[in-house]
Amino acid sequence: LVVLKSVNKHFGALHVLQDIDLTIARGEVVVVIGPSGSGKSTLCRAINRLETIDSGTIVLDGKPLPDEGKELARLRADVGMVFQSFNLFAHKTVLENVMLGQVKVRKTEKKKAEEKARKLLDRVGVANQADKYPAQLSGGQQQRVAIARALAMEPKVMLFDEPTSALDPEMINEVLEVMQQLARDGMTMIVVTHEMGFARSAANRVVFMADGRIVEEAVPDQFFSNPRSDRAKDFLSKIL
Ligand code: ATP
Ligand code: MG
Repeated sequence: LVVLKSVNKHFGALHVLQDIDLTIARGEVVVVIGPSGSGKSTLCRAINRLETIDSGTIVLDGKPLPDEGKELARLRADVGMVFQSFNLFAHKTVLENVMLGQVKVRKTEKKKAEEKARKLLDRVGVANQADKYPAQLSGGQQQRVAIARALAMEPKVMLFDEPTSALDPEMINEVLEVMQQLARDGMTMIVVTHEMGFARSAANRVVFMADGRIVEEAVPDQFFSNPRSDRAKDFLSKIL
């Protein structure tokens, strides 16, 4: 569903993505881990063209990512993204946040958009917060709204970039549970996270990045119990 071939990206002299080859099948859940600065966020941002790439190709559902224009907007809408900071519209209610993209980008009529928004808010467990403003919600609730908002676009793939790292510990699980459920429902997901419990239970594959390269790829059990590379061993010894 998502295919990256020899993707390279520089920030000045810094080679942040080095010959990245990565294929993600429909319904697959891939967890990306690695030290700070290894290029995980840049990889996510490249996949929905928040970041341009210098060379290589990124193909989404059989179509190469275009550089700009209407086609890009359409393809981008197929990629749901959830960031560390929740990025909700502060001056819009929870319900409006989940309706907005449907109405503006997908051209869904308001009534239908509201119906779907309420369904999704229910699915992530915040249906009773629909008329509040983001600032009136806890971090965990806001992040679940952010997930609902992304899902409202009916994305083909969901990208999560450290979705729980800005949350208080007691709120992390409520967000991870929503993500677990999404994984069980068959969503294609790319998840940057240091939550190894999530990686073990939800991921089909772990991708370990260091210095802009994919150093190792393996099923979670194998990766955690028997990492092959020294970089991965070293990294795991620090976080586990
Ligand atoms: P973290 O775990 O800290 O989130 P990361 O693996 O997500 O790290 P990236 O955010 O992808 O890493 O950054 C990779 C490298 O690129 C870092 O050295 C970072 O400083 C650099 N970088 C990221 N964005 C830019 C930018 N817009 N301009 C210049 N350098 C950047
Ligand atoms: Mg990052």
